[in-house]
Order: sequence, then C-alpha cells, then structure tokens
Amino acid sequence: MRQIIIIGSGPAGYTAAIYAARANLKPLLIASSVEAGGELMNTTDVENFPGFPEGVQGPDLMTKMQEQAERFGTEVVYDDVESVDLSGPIKTVTLGGGDVEQALTVIFATGSAYRKLGLSDEERLSGRGVSWCATCDGFFFKGKEIAVIGGGDSAMEEATFLTRFASKVHVIHRKGELRASKIMQERAFANDKIEFIWNSEVVGITGADAVDGLTLRDTVSGTESSLPVGGVFVAIGNDPRTHLVHKQLDLTPEGTIAVAGRSSLTSQAGVFAAGDVIDSSYRQAITAAGSGCAAALDAEHYLSTLPQELLASASEPELV
Ligand code: NDP
Repeated sequence: MRQIIIIGSGPAGYTAAIYAARANLKPLLIASSVEAGGELMNTTDVENFPGFPEGVQGPDLMTKMQEQAERFGTEVVYDDVESVDLSGPIKTVTLGGGDVEQALTVIFATGSAYRKLGLSDEERLSGRGVSWCATCDGFFFKGKEIAVIGGGDSAMEEATFLTRFASKVHVIHRKGELRASKIMQERAFANDKIEFIWNSEVVGITGADAVDGLTLRDTVSGTESSLPVGGVFVAIGNDPRTHLVHKQLDLTPEGTIAVAGRSSLTSQAGVFAAGDVIDSSYRQAITAAGSGCAAALDAEHYLSTLPQELLASASEPELV
C-alpha cells in the first residue's frame, strides 16, 4: 500500500507530485494512457506562465513538470483509472490494465474534458472534419475554409492558430460579443483571415463521409442558413471530469468536485482534489499548479494525523 496516489497528469497533478515527492511520500501518479499531460499538451505558446518571459510550448512545460516530479521519486504509470473505492481509511484505485493500487490518500487532478455541442452528426463526423484540438488536427485543413465555434479564449486561440493553415476561419458565436480576454480578442480581430459570424448557433453539421458544411440558426431572428466549410473546431469550453467519483464525493452545482473553502479537502476524509476539476472560474495552468500544491500539503497534513499502525502499513518512505 502507498501513502498517496495522484490521478491526473496536468499542472495540478504534477505540482502535487513534486510537493508530495519532496515530502518523501513516494507518490504514484497515474497519467492517462492516451491523454497524458493534460490540456497543455494541446496548446502551443503558453505566454502567461510565470518564469518564461519568452513563452514556452505547452508540451515542453509539461515535460519539465514531469521531470521535476520524477527527480524527487514520483512513479508515473501510463494507464487509465477504471474505478475507485474511496470509502474507509484505505482507498482502492483500479486501473484499466487490471492493476489494483491502494493508498491512504488520493488526490484527484483529473481536469476537464472538451464540451460537445450535442448534435448527432458531431460524433459521426468526429475525426472527419469535426475536431476539438487545433494543434492536433489543424494541419489537415491546409488551404481550406473552416469554422471555429465559441466566443472564449479557447476559440480565439484556436482560430488564430488555425489561420496558419486555413484559407479562412469563420468564428461562430451565439452572442453579439465575446467572452474572451481583451488581448485574445484583439489578436483575432486584427487577423485578416478570421471572420466573425455573430448571434449564431450551429444546429447541424453536414457531409456524407467528411464535413462539407454547417447549418446555422440566427439567435435573434431564428432564420436558418448554410455555411460551406471543410472542417469545424468546437471550442465551447470544458466540463470537469468527475465520472469516477459520482456518488462517492459531493459535487458543486457547477459540476466540479466540492472542496472545503480554499482547501482541497473533499467530502471524503483522505481524498483531495485540485486543478480544473474543482475550479469553474479561473482554470489557468498556474492556478491549477497552485491548487495541486495545496492538495499535496493537505494530504501531507492528513497523513500526519493518522494512527501509526495505519501509516506503517503504507510502504516506508526512503530517505532521499
Ligand atoms: P469559456 O467557458 O470561457 O468559453 C466558452 C465559450 O463557448 C463561450 O463563449 C460560450 O458562449 C460558448 N459556448 C458554451 N457552450 C456553448 C454551446 N453549447 N454552443 C455554442 N457556444 C457555446 O471556455 P474556454 O475554453 O474558452 O476557456 C476556459 C478557461 O480557460 C477560461 O478561463 C480562459 O480564460 C482559459 N483559457 C486561457 C487561455 C490563455 O490564456 N491563453 C487559452 C484558452 C483558455 P457564451 O459566451 O454565450 O457563454
């Protein structure tokens, strides 16, 4: 049995691992088998993470965080968590590959997943012109006219990035003004290849084998129109990944894991949560990292309150 298992490999998970490892808790960090590294793996320039005045590539930042966590003794496993049992003092985590791990504490840093439009053709044409990741798929749209849906920072970032490949990018937003930060808005407005379609919802995606167009509905007049495009990027936000803990941990009305005040303490003793999975408002790499730090400190404090015989049953930490 271990002292601590961290689920998730974004900035929250790796920061929790750095702190837990330096506290000699020998953490096991479970990174996903396919999406290890979290959302920054799908970004290019990260310009607002302190310490990188020239910016840093998202995947490079995550590699550095992982190296730092491993340097102090974090064990990283590339597998998906299939289920968890958080009741009682010993927590059980079952992995997709069949391994079963136990620990006295668990930190959830499972982040969030791309939100979907909920249209039937969205799934059917996924990977055939419908995408959620410009840095992953942008290259396939070289010279094409495409669309980005959304009005937040993600949509602006995706649209701006996609102008490297596409001949034109239509940004479709359901309102008449953007939610994105000023700097991201200005960058998109200044880009000749980006055109905005305001007050419009996408109500249909067309194409037999690949996307060939969108059906739009004007949110003011209700009239429908078609827009021929060769691809569409959905950038309408994210939903916290909480499927593993439904019925085991309390959630907030926004769907994030509920924590006590500014701490990472969940409704279950010995279980902590950090990063986007607890945060519906800030959702930045740096806030996730800070929250991962808090979770590791909270877990360390909790462990120090446990009876000696329970602690002894967790593998003895080695002196680093
Ligand atoms: P946001 O929640 O900020 O924005 C989502 C956008 O999608 C909104 O404009 C929203 O419309 C629209 N939307 C939501 N649901 C639908 C729907 N069903 N149909 C059509 N449109 C929809 O998400 P983001 O992913 O853009 O950003 C999340 C967080 O990450 C933010 O805090 C952002 O600042 C941050 N971020 C920062 C970046 C950076 O600093 N470089 C880059 C990317 C993200 P409406 O406005 O009407 O609600």
